[in-house]
Amino acid sequence: MLDCIVLGAGISGLSTAYYLRKLGVKRIAVLEKGKIGGKIGTVREDGFIVEKGPNGFLDNKPFALELVKELGMEEELYPSSDEARHRFLLVDGRLVEIPLTPKDFFSSSVLSLQGKLEVLKEPFVRRFPPFLDPSVGEFCERRLGAEMVERLIDPMVAGVYGGRAYRLSMKSAFPLLWRLEQRYGSLVRALLGLKRERRLKGGPAGPGGRLVSLKKGLFSIIEGLCERLKGEVVLAAGCEVEGVKVLPGHFVVKTRELTFVSRSLVVSTPAYEAARMLEDYPVREALSSIPYVPMVVVALGYERKKIKCPLNGFGFLVPEREGRKILGCLWDSRIFPNRAPSGYELFRVMLGGARSPELFELSDEELADLAVSEISDILNIEGSPDFVKLFRYERAIPQYTVGHEKRLEAIESFLVKFPGLFLNSNAYRGVALNDCVGNSKVIASKVAGFLS
Ligand SMILES: Cc1cc2nc3c(=O)[nH]c(=O)nc-3n(C[C@H](O)[C@H](O)[C@H](O)COP(=O)(O)OP(=O)(O)OC[C@H]3O[C@@H](n4cnc5c(N)ncnc54)[C@H](O)[C@@H]3O)c2cc1C
Repeated sequence: MLDCIVLGAGISGLSTAYYLRKLGVKRIAVLEKGKIGGKIGTVREDGFIVEKGPNGFLDNKPFALELVKELGMEEELYPSSDEARHRFLLVDGRLVEIPLTPKDFFSSSVLSLQGKLEVLKEPFVRRFPPFLDPSVGEFCERRLGAEMVERLIDPMVAGVYGGRAYRLSMKSAFPLLWRLEQRYGSLVRALLGLKRERRLKGGPAGPGGRLVSLKKGLFSIIEGLCERLKGEVVLAAGCEVEGVKVLPGHFVVKTRELTFVSRSLVVSTPAYEAARMLEDYPVREALSSIPYVPMVVVALGYERKKIKCPLNGFGFLVPEREGRKILGCLWDSRIFPNRAPSGYELFRVMLGGARSPELFELSDEELADLAVSEISDILNIEGSPDFVKLFRYERAIPQYTVGHEKRLEAIESFLVKFPGLFLNSNAYRGVALNDCVGNSKVIASKVAGFLS
């Protein structure tokens, strides 16, 4: 009998296996339906280094950074360029820099005068009662005004989750900001308070941070994890799990060809797959009620001379009111300069999400044409791209919609009845790579505690 089976070899599953080994757990198998790495994938082609999904993690949380260092890959770390601090928003068809300081905010054209006045009222708006679960839109509209939500918050929610501000839960999708508001009574007061604390104690002022990747792309972390687990853990790709049986003292996992038995089980697949595997159990309902949105990433490489617009930043987000089809565009070769060969630029255009899921029905060619036509117009590009790659995710990112906390409570109350069973993926407590790695560390120590 195995000590632990981990289902799914995305960053959550692999880092769980890594921390389990570190804690001395021995007989471990990781079973993966498709390719190792899950949403993390890097294509290295024609001098371009293209990320299929995530392109980095923030250094304001320690987890991913620590993991890279423990894997002996510190030399590979690749911080984003200084210019990537500048982020843009499409406002009436033009790119406007998102202001970073209060002074820039008041002189910027991101909001109207009325919109800016609404933001000034924020410190005087009453704190939300802790038992409420407002949407990000409701929370920010009351605190910062409706214009701020429409022009900045909703595009940012689309940028992080592919989601909509009035659907996601503030508490679950942005827990740090929710906690700051609860502690200080206002976001503005929280920022001032954090600044004061930093002056006294040192450390970061707020929830910012620098984006970091690896020189050859994020897939290097997956390669590093596989290298470390080689010979220590059974790692099976192309091994789809069809069902799971929870029996007294052990778990039975069935794939098409084989049956595995173990003392503990960590399900690190998306929630809808966990629901399918656990369909005989009452937790199925809570798991299948976590929605996902589709997303298409179109990577476009251009010879620099074709681009007439200055590119001096991270990229831009597109508010819905602009009437465009794309959600935004990352200037990957500006964030991480080695992502394109010399004399070229690499962009990644995001389409779909909760704003326009219907775009997922278009063909690859139609989607690429759409991305090219919109960025040619916005970035004043003459001529066609020299490099095109497209990646589709039918269910890309889980949505922590209003009520997510209640769903997690239902899941937890099921899990306490089945010691040895754990759920750990981006579907529950954070979609960022840092959260996936941090949560895996916590789960691994719970598994080790259970086994000891
Ligand atoms: C386009 C995009 C851009 C992103 N950008 C960023 C970013 O820049 N920074 C950041 O921090 N985060 C980003 N994210 C989020 C981040 O990439 C994910 O949250 C994270 O990679 C999820 O890891 P995971 O292991 O929890 O899930 P997944 O990567 O989804 O892994 C789950 C694994 O389970 C496997 N599986 C499913 N069903 C079965 C089955 N029946 N049997 C066996 N295996 C199964 C799947 O094949 C998959 O490999 C982005 C996500 C997307 C989609």
